Amino acid sequence: MNDSLQPAKPARPPPLSAPARAALGWLHAARFLTTASKLDQLPAGDLPEIAFVGRSNAGKSTAINTLAQQRQLAFASKTPGRTQHINLFVLGPKDAPDAYLADLPGYGYAAVDRGKKLVWQRVMADYLELRRALGGVVLMIDSRHGFTPLDQRLLDFIAPRVRTGEVRLLVLLTKADKLGKLASQAALAAAQASLEGVVTDTSDVSVTLFSSLRRVGVEDAAETLRGWIHPAADLSQPAPAPAAAAAEAEAAVDVPLTGGR
Ligand code: GDP
Repeated sequence: MNDSLQPAKPARPPPLSAPARAALGWLHAARFLTTASKLDQLPAGDLPEIAFVGRSNAGKSTAINTLAQQRQLAFASKTPGRTQHINLFVLGPKDAPDAYLADLPGYGYAAVDRGKKLVWQRVMADYLELRRALGGVVLMIDSRHGFTPLDQRLLDFIAPRVRTGEVRLLVLLTKADKLGKLASQAALAAAQASLEGVVTDTSDVSVTLFSSLRRVGVEDAAETLRGWIHPAADLSQPAPAPAAAAAEAEAAVDVPLTGGR
């Protein structure tokens, strides 16, 4: 038989490291808990919370779905009536939840009227400044545009808590597949410069290129988030996710890139 007639095998993604599998398995267990339009509608924070924030269209819903390897999880946040709400997801085993993910509404969406915008800005500012359970923020920045004045304002809301290390910060430079190598490096350097004001001896700030489409930075981001909730000291603990979830994570679930709006 002539080997050259064999169809080329599709390239398999490289196997995931154990920490990446554990982190993706942990995130895969995310399930919807509740939706809130005011802070007092959120559960009284007995679990640490990680908030996802970003300009409308920055790729936040797609990033959440990719990290959780679920097709629809964050698009629940885009259903009518919920777009201006905080949508809360819970992580960890059903009988021992260990963290919340909070999906905050995308800001800067031109079609939202001014009155609603102001109300919402207040809720967002209060959440970022006051929510006691808030342990980390994942800020989505479109890698092609970098920090806009609105992103800078959002950073200002959390800056005091980030500087002390009370709130950790991970910046995902989204849609990195749209940039070539040089432009990616420039985007990374520009983001690092924008973050200079919040980096201190006590802060925990990181920034990474991210693409849901090409799975760039997904494992790193997942590991960072799990590390926030389960610091390295207890990595010996087994991941709460079942083996099937980890296997699914390894199969690199193809999350559709739809706006969902
Ligand atoms: P959100 O408004 O921040 O939740 O943004 P979405 O997740 O809805 O994404 C907005 C648009 O960007 C959609 O058209 C997505 O398909 C697209 N998008 C999201 N992530 C990526 C990515 O990694 N690469 C590319 N090329 N497009 C993306």
